[in-house]
Amino acid sequence: MKKNGLVDIDFERINLLYQSAPIAVNGLLVGFFTLFFAVRELLPTNYLVFWGGAFSIALIWRIGLIIAFRWQIAVDKINPQNIQKWEYFWVAMTVFTATVFSVLVFFPFSHDALIALLFIAMVFMGMSSGSAISSNSSVMVVLAFLTPTSCSLVFKTIYDAQPYYFLIAFVYTFFYLVLVFLTLNGNRVVVDNIKLRQHSEYQSIIDILTSLINRRGLKLFIDKLIPQAQRSRMPFSIVILDIDFFKRFNDTHGHLKGDQVLVQVAACLEKVAREEDLVTRFGGEEFLIVLPDANLDMAAKVVERIMIAVRNDTEVTISSGLAMFTPDISFEQLVKNADDALYLAKKQGRDRFVIADNIYADKACLIN
Ligand code: GH3
Ligand code: MG
Ligand code: MG
Repeated sequence: MKKNGLVDIDFERINLLYQSAPIAVNGLLVGFFTLFFAVRELLPTNYLVFWGGAFSIALIWRIGLIIAFRWQIAVDKINPQNIQKWEYFWVAMTVFTATVFSVLVFFPFSHDALIALLFIAMVFMGMSSGSAISSNSSVMVVLAFLTPTSCSLVFKTIYDAQPYYFLIAFVYTFFYLVLVFLTLNGNRVVVDNIKLRQHSEYQSIIDILTSLINRRGLKLFIDKLIPQAQRSRMPFSIVILDIDFFKRFNDTHGHLKGDQVLVQVAACLEKVAREEDLVTRFGGEEFLIVLPDANLDMAAKVVERIMIAVRNDTEVTISSGLAMFTPDISFEQLVKNADDALYLAKKQGRDRFVIADNIYADKACLIN
């Protein structure tokens, strides 16, 4: 398992984006209805029908996207590796919706065209401000709305080339730049908060001496793994390892040297464990490794390699107890089984492992 703990910023950021997505939908609906009723006197009906139809398509896709995301999250189909595409989907949706809004500016208003344009600009600015606040977990999304709507206003005012219009174009451009700046700032705050929270969560599950996952982290991992193992019927095994005669080692070499050995043993465990295994410091000089998708034979092979590594790299030996999870037992029972096996390994002379399983009849296994 990756322990850097800070790799999932995009996952949280994009989750936040979809959490605030209903606010964006709400804002677009208010903007649409306000504009629709305000300009309906000034536009031919077929333009209004076209515009309303395009907006409805944009809205349905958006709502569909929100529902699809929430459903995929609920069934655990979205993970840090595949979440990025959901941000691109939302960006694409936003470009489409912003384009639907932008074309309104270029419709042939029969009279009071200036009033209509200013009114549209006012609503666009309201929606853009809302987007900059509610969607600032994704700069891309805010830009995707802001850029087409602002550009259309600026082009229209320059194109019409009426007196004072250049001033209006300047104001819109300035407003656009301010919103981009505020969005970047807001996004930095969001990302900093995610990092801070992840960092403090990470600190709370890490053992300070060995940098291994502690018991709290183990509980979080197990709470996820057990339902998965029950669903998929995939076996997983655990190993409890205890340093032999460690009290004597401390008494002979001092506690500080004892601490160094704990760090060395931890390094051996991490070196041998697979990427998907979870190596934890279970207690003082006891370690627990969870081996997902591993039966007892596979776990025994890992333990053999660990014992060799500990012998080669440290001045101590270790004893271990192995047990495999079956859907009919609790994690506490599984730990007890492994602990009983460890007790046997100690009793039978240490520097060996015992498998808690009927087939192996709790016979200790020595390695050369
Ligand atoms: P056994 O072979 O039966 O396991 O003998 P043992 O002496 O290792 O017995 P036990 O497992 O009960 O020993 C626990 C000892 O581990 C007691 C304590 O001195 C030492 N210990 C526990 N935590 C730490 C630690 O953080 N640092 C150091 N240096 N020693 C620790
Ligand atoms: Mg012990
Ligand atoms: Mg011990």
